[in-house]
Amino acid sequence: MVEHNWKPEWNDWCPGCGNFGILNAEQLAITELGLDTKNVVIVSGIGCSGKTPHFFRYPITGIHTLHGRALTFATGVKLSNPSLKVIVNAGDGDQLGIGVGHFVSIGRRNVSLTVIVHDNGVYGLTKGQASPTLRRGLKTKSLPKPNINDDINPIALAISAGYTFVARGYAYDVKHLKDLMKTAFSRQGLSFIDVLQPCPTYNDIMTKEFLDKRVYKLDTVQGWDPIVRKPEEKDAKMASGILKSMEWGEKIPIGIFYQNDLIPSFEERIAESAKSYKEIIPAKVEIEKDGKPL
Ligand code: SF4
Repeated sequence: MVEHNWKPEWNDWCPGCGNFGILNAEQLAITELGLDTKNVVIVSGIGCSGKTPHFFRYPITGIHTLHGRALTFATGVKLSNPSLKVIVNAGDGDQLGIGVGHFVSIGRRNVSLTVIVHDNGVYGLTKGQASPTLRRGLKTKSLPKPNINDDINPIALAISAGYTFVARGYAYDVKHLKDLMKTAFSRQGLSFIDVLQPCPTYNDIMTKEFLDKRVYKLDTVQGWDPIVRKPEEKDAKMASGILKSMEWGEKIPIGIFYQNDLIPSFEERIAESAKSYKEIIPAKVEIEKDGKPL
């Protein structure tokens, strides 16, 4: 792990890219929470979003890893030093395509880190091929024909897989996104934020204009309460979060879909497991007798 060569003036994302809003929200969230940046590690995968740790406006530790493998690196970082705040920035193609196995597996563990998916429906770095979140029948400008595959619903997948905080933000609503990040960064357990991120270069359908007209905040919906306060509420809250995530079209909800702080984190499970392991293993293993090795 190395601290990158900080050059705050350098950035090669395209003008108008939603990645700028995500970066701004992330920097603000870290700053407003007063986190010591020496204890924050940004782990990224491959794609335009993978450059996020390089483009921070202040020095931070980043690891730019392999395609689809950011979550394995991030898990290792967190387990080797649980006091670190670990944040993953990855694209929808990276995390929900080649990396989808890790995306699901980490949900079962509830590792205390935050996964931020830059969701633009295309593989921007490689000229705009359809990603797993592009809806069937859509033809973005670099596709020769409409997409023939069905899309993955990242919110429904994350809730089903066991993520204990699942939210959606919008890259052009930086304040709202920052607040989601502050909640995610402050809690124990695995958090996921799917960020609608316009890619003006390759996705001419999910544009800023398209999203500006459609997004609305879940916390303005009367009676919306995604938080599990008692274990017996879990199934119903999961189901309502998944159902709400299906809403897409003239209205697209952003905000928290599901939050459950009652599930033990992976670090807590390991500590508990180690405690019981000690009960069956002698505290002191004899390696010598009468001053001589056995
Ligand atoms: Fe952003 Fe798309 Fe340009 Fe990549 S290709 S930097 S996602 S606008």
